[in-house]
Amino acid sequence: MAQARELFPGGVNSPVRAFGGVGGEPFIVERGAGARIWDVDGRELIDFVLSWGPLVLGHAPAVVLDALAATMRSGTSFGIPTALENDLGVMIRERMPHIEMLRFVSSGTEATMSAVRLARAHTGRDLILKFDGCYHGHADGFLVRAGSGVATLGLPNSPGVPDAVAALTLTADFNDLAGTSAVVRQNAGRLAAIIVEPVVGNAGFIAPDAAFLPGLRALADESGAVLIFDEVMTGFRIAPGGATERFGVRADLTTLGKVIGGGLPVAAYGGRADLMRLIAPSGPVYQAGTLSGNPLAMAAGIATLHALTPAVHNRIATATTRLVGGLREAAARVGVPFTADCAGSMFGFFFRAEPVRSYRDARSADVALFRRFFHAALERGVYIAPSAFEAGFVSVAHRESDIDEALAKMEEAMVVARAA
Ligand code: PMP
Repeated sequence: MAQARELFPGGVNSPVRAFGGVGGEPFIVERGAGARIWDVDGRELIDFVLSWGPLVLGHAPAVVLDALAATMRSGTSFGIPTALENDLGVMIRERMPHIEMLRFVSSGTEATMSAVRLARAHTGRDLILKFDGCYHGHADGFLVRAGSGVATLGLPNSPGVPDAVAALTLTADFNDLAGTSAVVRQNAGRLAAIIVEPVVGNAGFIAPDAAFLPGLRALADESGAVLIFDEVMTGFRIAPGGATERFGVRADLTTLGKVIGGGLPVAAYGGRADLMRLIAPSGPVYQAGTLSGNPLAMAAGIATLHALTPAVHNRIATATTRLVGGLREAAARVGVPFTADCAGSMFGFFFRAEPVRSYRDARSADVALFRRFFHAALERGVYIAPSAFEAGFVSVAHRESDIDEALAKMEEAMVVARAA
């Protein structure tokens, strides 16, 4: 880390890795297998971060490694169409039929910023609406009241984003349909897009109220704005078909990432064909990428989605429910204020007695208690995200015995954290 701090700002290549949200030194990972990772000092950890979501099959799954080995022998990149792109595209569309056409990119940030560009081009309008605590990547227009590392580090809106750009991003509170509706109506005729994490994972885990997503759909229809579901995190996590399947609400555009790359850099945006046809070269909206649709990344995604059958999805969801139920019981026994929730294989918890419905609620949870809990859990061999404002993930490699072992250790960690 001393050398890394000289090489990289804060010693890391993405901010939350530096443990700023919990204090102390980050550990250096050496390898992973299944549900576990090992650091360079030989410490073994049960991993509920899973590279921040992508590793739905766990670390180093044979099906992905085999697909990579087979694919890379033929070359690692061409910048020429390959059949693999069609294969992954078809798999995504089969599972998410509302994604009629799509474009592969290499990061979630690229996907969301391109989707917003498309929405602006389609509507001829400039404003976008996002929700407080939601994170959509680090493009300029998203660093306004953002979640994830921006929330973890308590940063205000980011320097370097011109005021003129930030002014194009309106915000509302997640789950506040009345407030959202007021913002939309005040800006009628100027709003290009409403972008939302259908289940928030970047302000901790926050589920939508039953009326919230249908309400956003209605507001988008009424105002002519494009509804974008940012499913970079929730895609292939909260249901085999994502938010549309789970909540029955159809977005105009959807962004994906994480799971669709199975641990390699892949993301995508897609949706209504009439909108997607505006993208170059079929239309005038420019967006491109040297490594987009990279064959190794496609192969990892194909192997991952192939293995992630509905039955497997349900098995992981059951393990996740077991984890969350166990955490609630442990917290009740230990006597710490606690609320937890999950959807599919994504979960989260806050040290707060009342349920969390918005980032405002999330901020009132006991973050100091979280920090003590994080370190106590880590010392006992359980790795959760080093921030009170991140979701957790479970993989098919997390067996019942892993969950039970983790629960026992996390209960001990709660005792230690409470006593401190
Ligand atoms: N959208 C959401 C919902 C995310 O969770 C993230 C990253 N965690 C992004 C966008 C940005 O993705 P990337 O880090 O790949 O740019």
